[in-house]
Amino acid sequence: MKEICSFSLKELKNWMGENGENSFRAGQVFDWIYTKHALNFTDMSNVGKDLREKLAEQFSFPVLKLLKTQESEDLETIKFLWELPDQRRVESVLILSGDRRTVCVSCQVGCPARCAFCASGRQGLMRNLSPAEITEQVLHINHFLKEKGERVSHIVFMGMGEPLENYESVVKAIQIFHEPEGLNISQRRITVSTVGVVEGIHRLAKEELKVNLVLSLHAPNQHIRKKIIPYARKYPLEEVLMAMDEYTRLTKRDITYEYTLLAKINDHRKNAEELAKLLKDKQCTVNLIPYNPVEGLNLDRPKKETIENFRLILEDAGINTTWRYTKGKDIAAACGQLALQEAPTQNVAPEQSAAPSEKLALVNADLSQ
Ligand code: SF4
Repeated sequence: MKEICSFSLKELKNWMGENGENSFRAGQVFDWIYTKHALNFTDMSNVGKDLREKLAEQFSFPVLKLLKTQESEDLETIKFLWELPDQRRVESVLILSGDRRTVCVSCQVGCPARCAFCASGRQGLMRNLSPAEITEQVLHINHFLKEKGERVSHIVFMGMGEPLENYESVVKAIQIFHEPEGLNISQRRITVSTVGVVEGIHRLAKEELKVNLVLSLHAPNQHIRKKIIPYARKYPLEEVLMAMDEYTRLTKRDITYEYTLLAKINDHRKNAEELAKLLKDKQCTVNLIPYNPVEGLNLDRPKKETIENFRLILEDAGINTTWRYTKGKDIAAACGQLALQEAPTQNVAPEQSAAPSEKLALVNADLSQ
């Protein structure tokens, strides 16, 4: 069966034409799904019965099943656990910050990048999510917010997975999020975070998109980066930075570099000085993320004083630097902590099935943008 939330409006119009229907029906169906919050075809009352039956026969909707929600004590972070059609599971996080309603979406089950500080990376890639499995995360959270008279305002691809390794689905989902007849979310309010997939950055720069791009940098040089991010062996730092520069040049969007501070690994004074030199003259912001401990990983968060000194060195060098207050720590939804603590065995790679309780962490969840 096809998934209706993987279809752009244009594709749905084409489908209507190919199936002997007037193409304006596509707009009506889109409106029911994305604006009127219908969760089945039967409720689409201004769509003819025959067409509703045809849609129900040929399309699956919805594809995500909500298993659980968890709210942080401060009520500013809500974690959603979804079951996919093959019983694998992914999570999304909703951050309530002022007027912003930001959803952090997952784009893969597991992740191929295997970053050292990320339990999700340790399990490797299970599979890519389809566009519908991505768009429905936002769609259902939008539905959830509707009851409070609110809607999703920002989307960040910072959940489980490397977005540029699931390029087609991610770009399709961005187009659907942006569709004026759909969720109508400005591309400037959509952020893609990558570990540095060079060909993906070049490709994204050439799309007709204006989304924000964030690089998970985490190191001031290739030597340290290779230790933290195995993907750095494939994509040397110099090439990644050149690709990021090209993205800025072609899209006119500023770049954010994320730097997770790991005690005694990348938090020394000389690391800050080297980072300042590396990013000098770049149109960018550095987002410092003090590491949030993940069970089973032998890594520590630096002391507050160390983090503050690191920040001052960057700021003294004229680099715009942010140090984010971490939200959702008590429900393990904070950056580096977001985890499928009740991960089913289907989510676990065969060689790891002896340890099904291992957390599948979603690192990079800097959710406050
Ligand atoms: S930090 Fe992000 S890119 Fe790295 S393994 Fe974890 S999910 Fe993948």
